[in-house]
Amino acid sequence: MGKGRPEIDRERCKGCELCNMVCPESILRMSEGFNHKGYHYSECFDPDRCTACMSCAVICPDAAIRIWRRAAIPAGDGASGTGGGKRDA
Ligand code: SF4
Ligand code: SF4
Repeated sequence: MGKGRPEIDRERCKGCELCNMVCPESILRMSEGFNHKGYHYSECFDPDRCTACMSCAVICPDAAIRIWRRAAIPAGDGASGTGGGKRDA
């Protein structure tokens, strides 16, 4: 079990692939689908390997990635807690 879990806002993503390139675990990839802007968006295909290093969230120029630390995720939920990533209001 990893330390974190990335949450990627697909509608904010512009498909630059920077996050894919910096992830040390290589668990991010571009989706086959498109968002409403017409971009392939980034997705995580193996969140259990996320180390919560924050590299993807820091490099994203559109603040589309938020990292949830597993210690903050209630058991059986995974949908709330305190995020460590950056995101505009
Ligand atoms: S926080 Fe680190 S390990 Fe997790 S998806 Fe982002 S770059 Fe990869
Ligand atoms: S760095 Fe941000 S905008 Fe670029 S592909 Fe990743 S999530 Fe999308």
